[in-house]
Amino acid sequence: MDRSGPNWREVDEVLAKYHLLHAEPHNGEIQVSGTFTISDGSDEIERYQIRILLRHDYPLSMPEVWEIGGRIPKTAERHVQPITGQACVMLPDQRWELWPVGRNLLHFVEGPIHSYFIGQALVERGEKWPAGEWAHDAFGVADYYAQLLKSPSLDATLNLLAAIGAPAIKGYIDCPCLSGKRLWHCHQGRVRDIRQRMGSAQALDARQRLLRDCERLAANVVAVYPDAVTLRTRHAVFELARAGLNAASS
Ligand SMILES: [Zn+2]
Ligand SMILES: [Zn+2]
Repeated sequence: MDRSGPNWREVDEVLAKYHLLHAEPHNGEIQVSGTFTISDGSDEIERYQIRILLRHDYPLSMPEVWEIGGRIPKTAERHVQPITGQACVMLPDQRWELWPVGRNLLHFVEGPIHSYFIGQALVERGEKWPAGEWAHDAFGVADYYAQLLKSPSLDATLNLLAAIGAPAIKGYIDCPCLSGKRLWHCHQGRVRDIRQRMGSAQALDARQRLLRDCERLAANVVAVYPDAVTLRTRHAVFELARAGLNAASS
């Protein structure tokens, strides 16, 4: 079988370091599976049975990861997609920070995958998930950008994302965060910095996704709370949807 090409070279680099993992071609894609050891320096903490799939379009697409030992409950609270069983090792929106273009599979294994299973081991011991936990669905994405942009509301987040995606940043405009200050006295530094590091395309894409999610959630919210049609901000609709979901699931 053909085990050549850049993707296999990345896989071989992982196998050289993780001796209990092995790899095989899987419908023209690459599957890495076996025992994954997590450690704290040189001390082994825990072992998990995992499977990693590199799709045809890897590294454009991120590696997909599963815990296959049946040890982690398939629930959103444990950061497992309930239907597919896929581990959510990181929010796709965070890729530019945690696994930017140019990093390889070993970085992914030693970064996001290792942190994910450290988190699982801590939760199994009754401790809290370490820093950097996001809710699933649109709420996690909205919270992520709110924190990244130091944004006070969803409406402000959407405006700030538009500013990051705009062809030029003009400091004299009113700040998109709706503070009433000029941009240069408010979010300008942050907008510049995020635009440079994350890129304007991702900002516009995230804004589109959040807007679509707002519409979808607004329809659900109004179906349950007809009075919600009077809500004036997207933030209010979004938070009502979140509260409704939390109430339904508890
Ligand atoms: Zn998750
Ligand atoms: Zn501002």
